Amino acid sequence: MTIRDIIQVIETFAPLSYQEHYDNAGLLFGRPEWEVKGVLLTLDATEAVLDEALEKGCNLVIAHHPIVFGGLKKITGRNYVERVAIKAIKNDIAVYAAHTNLDNVRAGVSAMMAGRLDLTHTRVLDPKRELLRKLFTFVPVADAEIVRGALFAAGAGHIGKYSECCFYHEGTGTFKGAPDTDPYVGKPGERHSEGEVKVEVIFPAWMEGQVVQAMLKHHPYEEVAYDIVKLENSYAEVGSGLVGLLPEEMDEMDFLRLVKERFQTGCVRYTPLRGKKVHKVAVCGGAGSFLLKQAKAAGADAYVSADFKYHEFFDAENQLIIADVGHFESEQFAVDLFYHILTENFRNFAPLKSTINTNPVNYL
Ligand SMILES: [Zn+2]
Repeated sequence: MTIRDIIQVIETFAPLSYQEHYDNAGLLFGRPEWEVKGVLLTLDATEAVLDEALEKGCNLVIAHHPIVFGGLKKITGRNYVERVAIKAIKNDIAVYAAHTNLDNVRAGVSAMMAGRLDLTHTRVLDPKRELLRKLFTFVPVADAEIVRGALFAAGAGHIGKYSECCFYHEGTGTFKGAPDTDPYVGKPGERHSEGEVKVEVIFPAWMEGQVVQAMLKHHPYEEVAYDIVKLENSYAEVGSGLVGLLPEEMDEMDFLRLVKERFQTGCVRYTPLRGKKVHKVAVCGGAGSFLLKQAKAAGADAYVSADFKYHEFFDAENQLIIADVGHFESEQFAVDLFYHILTENFRNFAPLKSTINTNPVNYL
């Protein structure tokens, strides 16, 4: 098994194209073709974690936060990032990060947070737009089922919890091949009319290569006619944060105590209580103040996230309770998510969870 095999599994779950523009997710050190000796999972690929990888014979560290974020101009070891770079390169340790791409998938970091609070009826708080494409292709009636099946098998046709979604209708296509063509139906140099099915199917943009390839492989025509169109629709499966319902509504202080316990945090910073029950809860891992507006718009009674600044707490405006559990605490379960993704896909292989607590923040 190579590092490429592992990356492929992670990026099928959390495609790299879903990361935010400022991010630097992906393979940061190492080569995709390296044979994997062992995998260590962590939130942060710190020097101590790399030492642990060495000690445990792991040559791949998978982290949530990209240790190289803003670029490196010199590598002299004057700060912890440069020292990690030196240690990784010297010891042939690959470091891979799945960051905002892991945050932005529906089953990603926010889903782990929602799971800690047993939230149900969850939906993405701020779905992203323009991530979907539609394919139209024109297939002879007799071959339509084969092409449709190939498109579904390649991953097209998913809408929410429904799969194999497509629309098709019959019509007539015409074409005239040049003298040197070899048409599937009709004769070169003569206009031919053929009963065709127009197949319409939706797919996420990152799948375009595999969907088009599957269509071309199974479509009988020498020259396949097809259109790919960008959709403006928001994609309910991809975006920041989640909102859902607690199994039962709770008193505010009971809810905050539950949050403290479930996120194993030494401190929950929260805004003034409203004297109302908490039922609908929004969550977002890491610095989540950018989603406060959407949490309010969703009618959440509470918003569990991290890294709120003093003035941002005022923005709660008594419309909800902000519960800031700490950055590390909100995202710590990303390690369990990595573990789950890898063990689901590689049955005979067990990645290790780092035993080092990389949280740089302490509470007195
Ligand atoms: Zn983070």
